[in-house]
Amino acid sequence: MEDINLTLENVASIVQHALLHQPITDMHTHLYPPTFGTPVPNRTGHTDTSGLMLWGIDQTLTYHYLVAEVFRVVPATQLPFEAFWKMTVTQQADHIWKTLFVQRTPISEACRGVLTLLERLGLDPNEKTLDSYRRFFSQQNPDDYINRVMELSGVNSITMTNPVFDDNERQRWLGMANRGPDARFKAVLRIDPILRDYPTAARRLHEWGYAVEPQPSAQSMAEVRRFLGEWLDRQQAIYIAISLPPEWTYPLGPGTTDAAALAGQTMLEQAVLPVCRQRKLPLAMMIGSRLRVQPQLRDAGDMVGRADVSAVVNLCLRHPENKFLITMLARENQHELCVAARKFGNLMIFGCWWFLNNPSLIEEITRMRLELLGTSFIPQHSDARVLDQLLYKWPHSRACIQRALTDKYRDLLHTGLRLTQSQVQRDVRLLLADNFKDFLAR
Ligand SMILES: [Zn+2]
Repeated sequence: MEDINLTLENVASIVQHALLHQPITDMHTHLYPPTFGTPVPNRTGHTDTSGLMLWGIDQTLTYHYLVAEVFRVVPATQLPFEAFWKMTVTQQADHIWKTLFVQRTPISEACRGVLTLLERLGLDPNEKTLDSYRRFFSQQNPDDYINRVMELSGVNSITMTNPVFDDNERQRWLGMANRGPDARFKAVLRIDPILRDYPTAARRLHEWGYAVEPQPSAQSMAEVRRFLGEWLDRQQAIYIAISLPPEWTYPLGPGTTDAAALAGQTMLEQAVLPVCRQRKLPLAMMIGSRLRVQPQLRDAGDMVGRADVSAVVNLCLRHPENKFLITMLARENQHELCVAARKFGNLMIFGCWWFLNNPSLIEEITRMRLELLGTSFIPQHSDARVLDQLLYKWPHSRACIQRALTDKYRDLLHTGLRLTQSQVQRDVRLLLADNFKDFLAR
């Protein structure tokens, strides 16, 4: 087939077309296949509330982004936190719909996202109640619905996050021995307590039959390595992941006496990084979230904090045989992190995480990354926790990436460089799929 030359006139539509037709590898989500259970709505609320596959209008509306927003409009002085948390998911969703979508203009990104996903599903976003949406979702088969959402959002591979220290998650893996994996989903071994709370991790590991001691001794480290290896095998995990607070630093100063921090660093250097090296797996670190700053908001109560990019630099420098997938939560860290990525081939920066996952910030960050890193980064991940969110997060992000790329190609055309459609397709494939896959394979 004839390749098409880019011109100032056709470049926008060629970029749009390329982005729309490039299957996306979503490299970080909190989504699950139906084999992990799913809360099923009924008249009195939800059954199997421990199910991990979240989908449908009630889960979408009670997502913590929207919980935080509803408490700004109906504050806890009017509806106490305890009263909200006692409501069923159905009642919470009704409250959020009425407050944020009917009585107010749903202009925030989290609200707009709900409207986008309803529109993508062919539903009218102008309803005053949730009845017709609930009817639509009650007619869906979860397994088929995953295919439909993946098709509509352009995602062909979903990367999970599988926190092994969560009992619900762990039990489901252990009970799954004779069920095959779901080819649409890839696992990620999430191990926060090993690096953030060694005493708790050591106690749990001991309960599970590993000869781990309360101190990060040589024996403890060998047992943690054994544990990691067994779970990587069980999950067929494609990387190991951890989330860290803004205060996280590396290496610790010589005067550090904080036993938990010292144990975490020892575990990182002597257990986690060696296993990653041996298996050629990246360690993903998500840095900058401060948990439960407003505890009564539960999941909605987390805050952002500016973190220390030099810790990432030190990590990449001291462990050149390891690979690091890094995202940071604070807008103020993005430029420095981008410059750090110019120095280290073992550092892959990814996504516009959580509070950065807003169009104005995605566009700003993507433009800066293109200018500093060319096409050698991963512009976005969905971080979706409710399946339906794929239906808005990817279209919204694609539009930002499209504007940033189109302007950059225009700048190149002004130099007299010849560009073609197939070059655009190659760039888009790197950004939405291959940079991640190639980094895994490296
Ligand atoms: Zn996440």
